[in-house]
Amino acid sequence: MALRIDAKDGLYSAADDPQAKEHKLFEKRIPAFLEDRLCNRDLEQFLDHLADCPQCRDELSIQYLVYEGVPRLETGETFNLQEELGGYVNLERKRLHGRKRLSLLALLFELVTVLAAAAVAILFFLFL
Ligand SMILES: [Zn+2]
Repeated sequence: MALRIDAKDGLYSAADDPQAKEHKLFEKRIPAFLEDRLCNRDLEQFLDHLADCPQCRDELSIQYLVYEGVPRLETGETFNLQEELGGYVNLERKRLHGRKRLSLLALLFELVTVLAAAAVAILFFLFL
């Protein structure tokens, strides 16, 4: 099945590049990344791949230019594409860390709640 998809999409072939599937997945996630719609797991994979892959960094720059730059060119605004993209990537990294901390806290809170409920139930049966 992977071969069929590669042949159809034609951009990267699995034979040339063992990471072809990761590049494809990265490319597919770019729009969601730019709109901050990736879930934590996808965002983490996205940022990890971005850090290691110059090819996908270029692809992200191009799509960022279209997404962010073209509308601004129409208004005549000047901007530094690489700098702003770098800032956005850093922001997403910080958001990911914040969200991961939050979900860990939520998990801990849930655990405490369950334990408290269990303790209440045990006390209830012991003393009543
Ligand atoms: Zn890549």
